[in-house]
Amino acid sequence: MKTRLSDFVDFENVVANLSTFGIVVIDRRFNVVLWNRFMELNSNVRAENVLGKNLFDAFPELNRNWLEKKIRSCMILKAASFSSWEQRPYLFRFNASAVAAGEAEFMYQDASIFPVHDHKGEVQGVCIAVHDATRLVEVTGMLERTMDQALDLEESNRRDGLTGVFNRKFFDEQITQEIVNARRYNWPLTLAMIDVDHFKSINDTYGHSSGDEVLRRLAERLKSMVRSSDTLFRYGGEEFALILPHIALENASFLLNRLRKAIETMVVELEPAIQVSMTVSIGVAQLEDGLAPGQLVSRADEALYSSKRAGRNRVTCYVEADPDLPVADLPPPTTVT
Ligand code: GH3
Ligand code: MG
Ligand code: MG
Repeated sequence: MKTRLSDFVDFENVVANLSTFGIVVIDRRFNVVLWNRFMELNSNVRAENVLGKNLFDAFPELNRNWLEKKIRSCMILKAASFSSWEQRPYLFRFNASAVAAGEAEFMYQDASIFPVHDHKGEVQGVCIAVHDATRLVEVTGMLERTMDQALDLEESNRRDGLTGVFNRKFFDEQITQEIVNARRYNWPLTLAMIDVDHFKSINDTYGHSSGDEVLRRLAERLKSMVRSSDTLFRYGGEEFALILPHIALENASFLLNRLRKAIETMVVELEPAIQVSMTVSIGVAQLEDGLAPGQLVSRADEALYSSKRAGRNRVTCYVEADPDLPVADLPPPTTVT
């Protein structure tokens, strides 16, 4: 003969003595029929003091409106329902258990509510099963904090300490990524290298820390002027790189020339009553078929060098040499001033 659970006459005892999981059974009038060991330990109310009593009278701090509705619908629909700590932190306000790390103010709980039937199959009440989720909440919280810290760290690893703009290391990653995107979606991509003219003399005249301040203010100004899709990097020393997606050489050089003029008219006020002005030279190159990241950088650098040679404070676009032209007939790089 098949063994049935009801054959185990002491099963009710097992449930009543369970101290790791809360089990409460109430009848249709919300009177407590079972209050197990877990509930005794955490509520400090012994079973003998609550059995036969109305649950809401015995525990007025319960959210009666919500729980009563939940219990009624469970009995009417004859279906279990679940309450998660994420939506409702607890059903019974208990102190956090000793196994928790001690950060939680109270015991977080997951709870299930099941209809319970008599031998005729009629719903005679509900069983509320309470699971202590505090440890899980704490571990989840710790994990989230660790993830946040990892993200913060990753973000700060991408930043230049002096100016706060992205650094050279991130530039190397980003230029490759932007080239992949531009090729995939077939949009233009332009790279500009921006170098302060005669920056050494700013350092020599006003001191290194004033030079630092000038670099900070310059980065701020550059950043405020570029489009949100453009990314500014401190490439090294007093040289910045600007990646301009979705924009072809001609429009980019127009935009960069505006930038150049803005820097030319900018005055950095330093203490005490020192005003510093500067100019920048810019080199621009556009991505072309088959060009590797390093080659695009070299082209922009080459154009920057042309700007310097041509007298500084100007924007030069890289122009590809035509292999069929003799060297003497090569077009000069386009310079915009
Ligand atoms: P050019 O017009 O040819 O670019 O001349 P330049 O003086 O700007 O270029 P050069 O490469 O000769 O000198 C760059 C100077 O930038 C030298 C270096 O000490 C200074 N520099 C580099 N990084 C920093 C920094 O973080 N802070 C300060 N204050 N100066 C820096
Ligand atoms: Mg320079
Ligand atoms: Mg330089």
